[in-house]
Amino acid sequence: MKKRKQDIYVTQPFLPPLEEFLPSLEQIWNSRMLTNGGPFHQQFEDALCEYLGVEHIALFTNGTLALVTALQSLRVTGEVITTPYSFVATSHSLLWNGIKPVFVDIDPETLNLDPLKIEAAITPQTTAIMPVHCYGHPAAVDEIQTIADNYNLKLIYDAAHAFGVRDEGGSILRHGDLSVLSFHATKTFNTFEGGAIVCPDLKTKTRIDQLKNFGHVGEVTVVAPGINGKMNEFNAALGLLQLKYIDQAIARRRIIDAAYRKRLQSVPGIRCLENKREQAANYTYFPILIQNDYPIVRDELYQRLKDSGIHPRRYFYPLISEFPMYRGLPSAHKDNLPVATVIAQQVLCLPIYPALPMSVVDEVADFIAAQ
Ligand SMILES: *Cc1c(COP(=O)(O)O)cnc(C)c1O
Repeated sequence: MKKRKQDIYVTQPFLPPLEEFLPSLEQIWNSRMLTNGGPFHQQFEDALCEYLGVEHIALFTNGTLALVTALQSLRVTGEVITTPYSFVATSHSLLWNGIKPVFVDIDPETLNLDPLKIEAAITPQTTAIMPVHCYGHPAAVDEIQTIADNYNLKLIYDAAHAFGVRDEGGSILRHGDLSVLSFHATKTFNTFEGGAIVCPDLKTKTRIDQLKNFGHVGEVTVVAPGINGKMNEFNAALGLLQLKYIDQAIARRRIIDAAYRKRLQSVPGIRCLENKREQAANYTYFPILIQNDYPIVRDELYQRLKDSGIHPRRYFYPLISEFPMYRGLPSAHKDNLPVATVIAQQVLCLPIYPALPMSVVDEVADFIAAQ
């Protein structure tokens, strides 16, 4: 394939029409309410709760600070069981709290934390489990909750990929003690930068709201070493507007997902990951696994696509456990993570976003089928 005129990246941020955002900007300019829980912050929290079908939400500057604060709010210490197959912020949030990550291998079907391997990793120091709904595919929520209950562990979901995802009982975000969202530009739902914690009750939300505001309670009292994690009015106003378009954006992603699947499922050596509940997925990523019976290895395909102007991403390679600040941990050893180690060598995330032309989807699929 010749080099394309315009390069295609794995994602392109979704934005509403600019004209529709201008009145909100004017309102912010006129009111001089820029942050610290202004009117857009309040409206966006309410609208998000309604859209997602959850009771309480605390908005944040970004998903990473939300993860750090979620752990702090539950007073998690010692060791936390988590997945090596994620974006590095998942484990970094543990280090920021002085917690030792304990990596457990993933399930080869879902690529989420393998519930059958969690118990063996629990020690007297374990205080929590932090799974990820990887690619927005629900983790084994029931099995993991049972383990958390049996061993009296907190359960915090990194739900950065799982905006709008539902299971039989409702929002996937209702599971565990807390769920954390990211609204980064590359995610399905974005506020440029942003994040949130889904909380089960008002008491928890109030504590989290204090922690994201330096630990302030009222004017003269500080109850904890909190951080500055507040979402500002610009991001909140944008989020409120983005909500109007999110269903359309997901519907468009779904069409692209189906087109890739149709063309790639018969290609020998290519495995597409299943969406267990099609109606309730968000199609944030389109990961494929380049298996041994494909004519070339993953990195060769990756390079050939790049040379042709298509830029897929190797999410998640390297594994978090391979980065210098983690690789010395006993649980980071490859022998402890055989499935994740293989998958990280096979995975490739293909371009998927609402504005992606269907002709490009066809082109990418044909290119992969033709190697
Ligand atoms: C994007 C992401 C984060 C971090 O979110 P930010 O809003 O970029 O800080 C955390 N975990 C996972 C799994 C992510 O994909």
